[in-house]
Amino acid sequence: GGEAFLAEMREKLSPRGDLVSPRGRELTQAVFGKPLTPVEVVETICRDVQNEGTAALLRYTAALDRAELTPEALRVPAADLAEAHASADPEFLQSIRNIRDNIVEFQSAILHQDVTIEPKPGVRLTQRYVPMRRVGICVPGGAAAYPSTVLMTAVPAQIAGVDEIAIVAPPTPFGAYNADMLATCHELGVTEVYRCGGAQAVAAMAYGCDVLPAVDKIVGPGNLFVALAKKHVFGTVDIDSFAGPSEVIVIADETATPAFVAADLLAQAEHSPGSAILITWDEALIESVQQELSKQLEQLDRSDLTRDALADFGALILVRDAQHACELTDSFAPEHLQIETSDPEGQIAQIRNSGAAFLGHHTPVALGDYAAGPSHVLPTGGTCRWAAGLSANSFLRSGSITQFNAQATQAIAGDVIRLAEKEGLTAHANSVSIRSNS
Ligand code: NAD
Repeated sequence: GGEAFLAEMREKLSPRGDLVSPRGRELTQAVFGKPLTPVEVVETICRDVQNEGTAALLRYTAALDRAELTPEALRVPAADLAEAHASADPEFLQSIRNIRDNIVEFQSAILHQDVTIEPKPGVRLTQRYVPMRRVGICVPGGAAAYPSTVLMTAVPAQIAGVDEIAIVAPPTPFGAYNADMLATCHELGVTEVYRCGGAQAVAAMAYGCDVLPAVDKIVGPGNLFVALAKKHVFGTVDIDSFAGPSEVIVIADETATPAFVAADLLAQAEHSPGSAILITWDEALIESVQQELSKQLEQLDRSDLTRDALADFGALILVRDAQHACELTDSFAPEHLQIETSDPEGQIAQIRNSGAAFLGHHTPVALGDYAAGPSHVLPTGGTCRWAAGLSANSFLRSGSITQFNAQATQAIAGDVIRLAEKEGLTAHANSVSIRSNS
């Protein structure tokens, strides 16, 4: 029943407009005076920010985040960034630098390069990649602080050569008032940081307002309101993805260490909600992982939340063999895939769909979350079937350049004119014949 179970889990995990806590519903009622759905909330906020600009941005920041700000106070002053950096723990800053170096090394290596070919004499064809001019990054700030998100989004944008980077974070102690987050921005040379979050910040970045000039692309994680707002403004700007709860599938065999496997499942469940699924063909491993889960859960800071996430979105699945494990994984298309077996390379070769894969007994997903080099902003909810994780290439747009000389145009003219005339587009045909006849 693994197939049916995973299909059900996929349905449960897909980001939907109706998954809001009772507290969220109360807030909606208080702010809008009626029980709107999250999609309606986001459409209202985006429309108001588009029409009224800064005034609506400030109004929603006051209503939803309880922060009464003046227009001038929306942007974090340079002195606050410098102050956070000056008083940061030197070891924390050193880790930020070490991680930045890892990200720079990987993201520079994978950056698309222009390609030019000369397929025939007098014909030059180029695919060139240019960085976007200005991008906006959402850094969450409701439930926890995420300096790692600043690293995993801003550094790839810098490697791509983006001119301007604007960061928005809710005006909360975990968001725009978080010293570690601000120190990280300063360390990376990001100077534009705004005290706003949620749908109102996404709308402000998409449409622009007095204090926050419009961007070309919005990236970065966030709660349901952020995700829905990004979907709403797509088309006016580009976005990275429509992301839901985090997920991992761990494939393990008898060579796996049960304590490692349990630790990896718990690390994902800790996102709360986070889905953690073990797939194995070794029946004994299921039991030993179960014991380890109970033991390790007790020692976690967020043990209650993690236990609930495991109960709602966790599973230990016994399959026939390695091939069955790969087929199930491929159909689920997990955001994270961890393979703790004797042949991880063999198994990854059989799996098409995974956002990011981590191979071997010594590669927990947390290495990728924080430090390895590839970004941790990844497609969730099965969307890695067609979407890629964020990278420096996400901040490039490609365009073609075509150049023919007179002889080359003459040589191709017959084919162009024949097709243009078939389509009844005689002006097209004429623009070629006028040259080839001259
Ligand atoms: P957040 O900071 O993304 O959003 C908070 C904002 O949501 C608030 O400022 C408010 O404006 C808005 N909001 C909250 N309730 C609302 C309501 N009822 N109506 C209208 N607006 C409302 O929130 P968060 O809690 O920090 O969540 C961040 C999410 O991002 C978490 O699920 C976390 O796991 C995830 N995350 C993912 C990654 C990754 O890369 N995959 C990294 C970090 C965080």
